[in-house]
Amino acid sequence: MVRRGCGGFALIPLCDPVRCEAAGCTAATCTGAGVASNDELFERSLAAIPGGVNSSIRAFRSVGGRPYLVARAEGALVWDVEGREYIDLVQSYGAVILGHAHPAITAAVAEAATGGTSYGAPTPREMKLAEAVAERVPSCERVRFMNSGTEATSTAVRLARGYTGRDRVVIFHGNFHGATDALLAAGGSGVATLGLPGTAGVPAGAVAETMVVPYNQVPTLDATVAAVIVEPVAANMGLVAPVPGFLEGLRAECDRVGAVLVFDEVITGFRLGAGGAQHRLGVTPDLTTFGKVIGGGLPIGAVGGRADIMETLSPLGPVFHAGTLAGNPIATAAGLAALGLLTDDVYAELERRAQRLADLLNAAFADAGVQAKVPRVGTLVGLYLGDGDTPTDFDAARTTDEVLFARLFHAMLAEGVAMAPGAYEALFVGLGHDDVVLDRLADRAHRAAMTIAAS
Ligand SMILES: *Cc1c(COP(=O)(O)O)cnc(C)c1O
Repeated sequence: MVRRGCGGFALIPLCDPVRCEAAGCTAATCTGAGVASNDELFERSLAAIPGGVNSSIRAFRSVGGRPYLVARAEGALVWDVEGREYIDLVQSYGAVILGHAHPAITAAVAEAATGGTSYGAPTPREMKLAEAVAERVPSCERVRFMNSGTEATSTAVRLARGYTGRDRVVIFHGNFHGATDALLAAGGSGVATLGLPGTAGVPAGAVAETMVVPYNQVPTLDATVAAVIVEPVAANMGLVAPVPGFLEGLRAECDRVGAVLVFDEVITGFRLGAGGAQHRLGVTPDLTTFGKVIGGGLPIGAVGGRADIMETLSPLGPVFHAGTLAGNPIATAAGLAALGLLTDDVYAELERRAQRLADLLNAAFADAGVQAKVPRVGTLVGLYLGDGDTPTDFDAARTTDEVLFARLFHAMLAEGVAMAPGAYEALFVGLGHDDVVLDRLADRAHRAAMTIAAS
């Protein structure tokens, strides 16, 4: 960590020497008086980075206010640059399932880095991580690595199109597959629609072959469809479990018309158990995309699947894929360390903690008289505010009370609990969220629920 100024306030990377001096603050007597505030640093970020952030949701636009800037994190906790501590339910959107700065990950990263950070040549570590994936997720007979979940889904689309010689892809309303043009299509409400661009900068042509259909209903396909891409458990519209028969129906419909079934397991992979959602739910896709957990908190993405489809990728086949940093030595080292630690016992413990999180939130809301639903699937937890049933599709998920969520978000933050700043994000527990942390979280959530009920 780069430290300026006195350097005594270990959590803070940005002491200002002039202020340290003015406050009479030295390494031995550091009070943090030389530190710039969140607001000052965010102001500087705004002048250097569009919106001050490198992923748009981090800007707090949907909940209002300004983000805290993280100085450091460990286990279940993050500290902002002012030294304020939060119990963290963001956990890098689930990527750091072992908790922040887990010693095994830190050691693997340090060791790998001393051997060089990128070579432009294959390494035994990539081979080992691909083998580790195939061992846990048998549908992944071959695995190709890249640098993000977004790259994984865009590669899967190109691969499915190249393999089938067809153009159309089918996606589900409320699912999220990263910032890739073909999958950034806006869907109409409740019905199957041909995609319109979901954001400026995506030409109509990029989504002209993207069909958006409602989640949890099996669409009737035809022989123009290259791929059906689905979050097998949807974790980007709160948390929506597949209804019985949905994934099985997709499997059967893809088989009927010869389309490639792609499970986007960027969130669920290595989180809902070692075998991901496909093992848990007993439906086998042709291709799977990974990100988040598979890199142990470092930038990574992967596509895995049936050998005959995967070997359509270059250099064996005609579908191009390349990446300067793909299969990166540090990311693959962290990924191997993470997968190695994620035993069945660890998953069972994480599920217990996720259930405790759901229970303590339910208790807090019930006590405060706040209507809420807290669905859980395995180690994933969602939250809907309102008196509706637990949602099964995006139209229902969207009835969550976003205004109340924003108030809850800020009440939790004031109590020292950091949730992702959006009403449609899942809540993540990791190995750092032990019973002591969860007890503290229960008290804080209770007070936050009382606060929003009173206002
Ligand atoms: C996070 C996410 C992505 C995008 O991954 P990035 O690494 O952020 O590019 C894709 N699909 C799903 C289901 C995700 O949750």
